[in-house]
Amino acid sequence: MNLEQLLAKFKNSDRFQKCVTRWEVIPPRPPEYEPFPDFLDKRLIYALDKKGIHSLYSHQARALEEVSKGNSVVVVTPTASGKTLCYNLPVLSTILRDKESRAIYLFPTKALSQDQVAELMEIIEVMGEDIKTFTYDGDTPPSARVAIRKDGHIVVTNPDMLHTGILPHHTKWIKLFSNLKYVVIDELHTYRGVFGSHTANVIRRLHRICRFYGSNPVFICCSATISNPRELAEKLTGKSMVLIDKNGAPSGEKNIIFYNPPVVNRQLGIRKSSLLEAKDLALEFLKNGIKTIVFSRSRLAVEVMLTYLKEGMRNTLYGSEAVRGYRGGYLPRERREIEKGLRDGRILGVVSTNALELGIDIGGLDVSVIVGYPGSIASTWQQAGRAGRRSAVSASILVASSSPLDQYIINHPDYFFDSPPESGLINPDNLYILVSHIKCAAFELPFEDGEKFGVETTQEILSFLENEKILRHVGGRWHWMAEAFPAEEVSLRSATTENFVIVDITGEPRVIGEVDRVSAPMLIHEEAIYIHGGQQYQVEKLDYEEKKAYVRKVDVDYYTDANLAVEIKVLDVIKERLRTKESEKYYGEVLVRSMATMFKKIKFFTHENVGSGPIHLPPEEMHTTAFWFTVPENLPNLTPEGLKAGLAGLCNVLVNIAPLYLLCDPKDIRGVIHVKSPFTQKPTIYIYDAYPGGVGFAERLYQMDDSLLKAARQVILECDCDDGCPSCVGPLEEVGAGSKAFALKLIQGVLDD
Ligand SMILES: [Zn+2]
Repeated sequence: MNLEQLLAKFKNSDRFQKCVTRWEVIPPRPPEYEPFPDFLDKRLIYALDKKGIHSLYSHQARALEEVSKGNSVVVVTPTASGKTLCYNLPVLSTILRDKESRAIYLFPTKALSQDQVAELMEIIEVMGEDIKTFTYDGDTPPSARVAIRKDGHIVVTNPDMLHTGILPHHTKWIKLFSNLKYVVIDELHTYRGVFGSHTANVIRRLHRICRFYGSNPVFICCSATISNPRELAEKLTGKSMVLIDKNGAPSGEKNIIFYNPPVVNRQLGIRKSSLLEAKDLALEFLKNGIKTIVFSRSRLAVEVMLTYLKEGMRNTLYGSEAVRGYRGGYLPRERREIEKGLRDGRILGVVSTNALELGIDIGGLDVSVIVGYPGSIASTWQQAGRAGRRSAVSASILVASSSPLDQYIINHPDYFFDSPPESGLINPDNLYILVSHIKCAAFELPFEDGEKFGVETTQEILSFLENEKILRHVGGRWHWMAEAFPAEEVSLRSATTENFVIVDITGEPRVIGEVDRVSAPMLIHEEAIYIHGGQQYQVEKLDYEEKKAYVRKVDVDYYTDANLAVEIKVLDVIKERLRTKESEKYYGEVLVRSMATMFKKIKFFTHENVGSGPIHLPPEEMHTTAFWFTVPENLPNLTPEGLKAGLAGLCNVLVNIAPLYLLCDPKDIRGVIHVKSPFTQKPTIYIYDAYPGGVGFAERLYQMDDSLLKAARQVILECDCDDGCPSCVGPLEEVGAGSKAFALKLIQGVLDD
C-alpha cells in the first residue's frame, strides 16, 4: 500500500478513528515563481541553470531584492523551501563582483554547517570560480588556519568559535573584518534563552570590531516558524530587519493527525502506552516501504523504540537494518553515515530525539510519528515539517502520552492549531551575561568614554570593572588590565560541554559514543544497560574521574531506568508575599542537589519492573532560582499520608501545566515538595529553573499569582479518573492513594475563592 491508501485505511478504521481527536488536512500549495533579477551575476544564473533551477521562488526573489538595497532581512521558511539560496545568491553575487568581499556564516551546530558548505561548494564548482569557502571551528587544523584568515571569502563557523577563536584575535583577521559585507545567521529560532542572549552580545562585539575596521555588514537571517521572527532577529543582531515570510515554494497535501491511545482502565486513568501505539503505527508505514521518522522525547526512549522497530522489521523485505537511531551521543562519523543513508534511500526509517528537528539534510520523508507532545507548538510544527515533499502527500501523527500536558494538548486541538508558535525570547541585557561580554569586548578593543554597549549604563559597568581591577581608565579610554583571557571563561551554552566517553571492551577497546556529564549518572552507571543504535551493552565500570564508561555487548530482555533523588535548599529570598488563608509565597535562590540513587530493570514490550539495584555516584549541585509556596497543614480530614499525596500530586500538575503559561519547554522547570520545609516550617512546593543561575521562569511563576493554581484545579476536576491518574496528579503508585482529592483540598486551602 502507498501512503494515500494507508491513510484511507486509517480513515475507515473504527479502532483508529476512535483515538483521533483531530485530523487536519493542509491542502497542497502551488509554487510562486519569479524570474532571476537583472542584477544577479550571469555566472550564477548559468550555475543555477546547470543545477536545474531556472527561476526563483517568490520569497527568494524578495530576499535578493531587499538585500541588494542594503537591507538586513529575516526569512521565515519551512523545510525544503530553498532557503539557502536566499543567502548564497547575494553573497556569491557580491564576491563575484568584488573579490575582496567577505562573508561570515553562523550555524548553531557543526553538522549543519557541513551540509550547507557542501551545497555552496557545488554552485562554486559549477561556476569554476575561485571563491574560497572554509569551515573554521574547533576541528580546523592549525596549519589551515592561516590560509583561512587570509584568503577565505566565506568563513563558516558557529557563535562559540566567533566568541573565543575569532573576535579576540581580530588583528589576525583584518582582511575579513575590513571587507565584511554579509553575516548569515541560519536557524535563527535556535538562538533563544541563555544561548541567544549570549550570542546577541557576541554580535554586539562583532559590530564594534567591524566599526573599528570600517565595515558595516548586512545580516541575512533564516528562521523556522516562531511567533516573533523579526523581533528576535532585531534583538539578536541589533539591526532593523525586513521580514520575509510569504513562502513561494510548493508543498504537497499534509495530514496532521492527533492520536490519543485508547483507555484500558478508566478508574485508574490508564491508556495504552504511547510508545507501543506509536510503534505499531510506525511499523504499518515502514512495512509498506514508506519513509518514516519517529521522534521520541529522550535518548532512552529513542533506543527502546528503535529496539522495537528493528524487531518488527526483522522478517520483512527491508530487514532490521533499514531502521536506525539518531541522537546526541552518537559519534559524528556514525551520524554522517545515517544522514547519507537517509538521503540515498538505503535507510527507510529513523528514530530520533529533537536533534533532527534542525535543518540537517536527510532528504524527503513521507511520515513523521511524534511520540509524546514535544513540549512546544513550535517544536511540534518543526517535527511535523520533517515529513513533507514538494509534490506528494505526507502525514504527521502526534501520539499523546498520558501526562497532563499531552492530554491537555490532544484534547484541546484548537489550542494547538489556533495559537501562534512560541516566541523566541532573549534578554541580552541580563546583567550577568552582559558584564561577561563587556569584559571580552574590552579585551578586544578599549572602550571609549561615552561608548555604549547595548545598555545606557555601560559607563557605570566600566567603572565597576575598574574598581574590580579588571579595567584601567586612562586618557578617556578603558583598557583591559587583568591577566586572564576573558572569553575562555564564558560559555555561550547553559549546558556543560564536558562529555563521558563510552568504550566498548567486547573485543579490541573502541569508543562508540558519548554522554554529557549531567546525564551520565542516569544513563551509564555501573550495571546500566546502555543501548546504542539498538545494540545493548552493559556498563561494567564507570570511571568517574577519567570520564569513561567501559561497556560490553549483551543480549538481555530488559532496559534500565534510573531514579533521581532531588534535594533543595533555600539560599536567599528575593521576593516574598503573604497570601490569604495562611499561604506564603516566595521567589529566591536555591541550591539543588540531584543524585541518581537506584535503577530499575524494565522488561521490553510489557514494561514490567523485573529488578533493581543501587547506584553509588556523587551528587550534582546546581545554583538556580525557584518559586515556592506553602500550603496549610491543618485542614480537616487531612492525614499525614494524605498531605504528602496531595503535595506530590499538586506539584506534578503544576510542573506539567506551567509550560503552557510560560511558553517554555517542559524540561526547563522542575518541582520538589517538602512535607515540612526546613525553611518555611510548613508543607511547601518548590518549582525551579532547570538551568544554573536560572533563566526567569521561576520569577514569572511568582508573579503569575493564582491563575496557575486555578488551572491546576481545572485539570484535576476535568479528569475522568476516580482517585488520581497519570493524566492529572500522576501515577498513584508514585504519588500515593487519594492524591486527587487531597490535591484539590490543598488548592482550596490556598485559594481565597
Ligand atoms: Zn486523572
